[in-house]
Amino acid sequence: MRVTARKSPPNISLVSKSKIYFGPGPAMLPQEVLQGTADAVLDYNHSGISILSIPHRGRAFAVILEETKARVLAICKLDANEYELLWLQGGGRQQFAMIPMNFLAPEKTAGFIDSGHWAKDAMDTAAFYGNTVSLCSSASDDYRYLPEWPKEIPDNLSYLYLTSNNTIYGTQWPEIPTCDTPLVVDMSSDIFSCARDYARCDLFFAVAQKNIGPAGVTLVVIRKGMLKRQVRELPGILSYSAQVKANSLLNTPPVSAIYTCLLNLRWIQEQGINSLFEANKKKAEMIYTELDSNPIFQPIVSPESRSMMNVVFRMMDKSHESAFLDFCASRNIEGIAGHRSVGGFRASLYNAVSVDDVAQLVSAMREFS
Ligand code: PMP
Repeated sequence: MRVTARKSPPNISLVSKSKIYFGPGPAMLPQEVLQGTADAVLDYNHSGISILSIPHRGRAFAVILEETKARVLAICKLDANEYELLWLQGGGRQQFAMIPMNFLAPEKTAGFIDSGHWAKDAMDTAAFYGNTVSLCSSASDDYRYLPEWPKEIPDNLSYLYLTSNNTIYGTQWPEIPTCDTPLVVDMSSDIFSCARDYARCDLFFAVAQKNIGPAGVTLVVIRKGMLKRQVRELPGILSYSAQVKANSLLNTPPVSAIYTCLLNLRWIQEQGINSLFEANKKKAEMIYTELDSNPIFQPIVSPESRSMMNVVFRMMDKSHESAFLDFCASRNIEGIAGHRSVGGFRASLYNAVSVDDVAQLVSAMREFS
């Protein structure tokens, strides 16, 4: 069937935001990004073909990939001569496996900062390939705070692995540390939310579905020097260096998901990281201030470890929690149920959540109490 090109895509305002959504990921995206995606689904760039159908090895997608790379490196202030960028599938869990597959030999050891569920999952997965050591942990206190940074990092580690923001427990490292060991960072839930010294990382990755775009694709940025450190033979699909050689095109990538990421990267650059950071700081302050002063709610995380992205809380009287969820739903506030493993509430305040959205939640908290 031939697709008839429309000269200009219909400007359907399909997503006038009717809900205030605090979901942890897949998360809310800016309206402009949704609109741009909707337009491209009907007709990509006046080509007469949907973004869902353009060929992944064609010129149009090559241009999209090139622009994503330039924008990510610009946002992260990284030099294109030093870093490679990949869009991979398999989510965070595939990175938990690919990192040790590529960089941890059976007799060698990787060090982990055990600050939450995803850090622990990454450590357990690495144990399939080599030795792992937990350098510090707050597991015994249900990860309610960040563990104390290790006084010494053993110098024989293949790499040090850190999770910059702990999505489930709501803790966040204030900065990326410097260290002499190759540093690998899972930035899934706070990438692009504030200025970071990305150049301290030798590899960082982030699943798209929080602050980058839709689910189905994972951004990996890797220092070129790391590519030479592959410790075992691997099928190309699981090898960073083979993926880099193929420009993320060993298999058919999710073209439309990557395009939505590009629209969001444009949006992020238009806003500017500093203004996003100011807004993120304000949103977090608004809700933590309410939690610290409203006697029926209880913040879970110690003040010095609190995340700007995921605010985790409970009610003093847990028997009222489902009534509060219903109350929020009656005010079109959704997505604040805590992770199934911890219960309570979690408000995820990624970039697309506005200060006004948070004001609505705070006002619901006040009215409910
Ligand atoms: N790392 C972090 C910090 C996460 O928050 C998540 C998921 N929320 C993951 C990894 C796992 O991602 P995925 O579900 O795509 O495997």
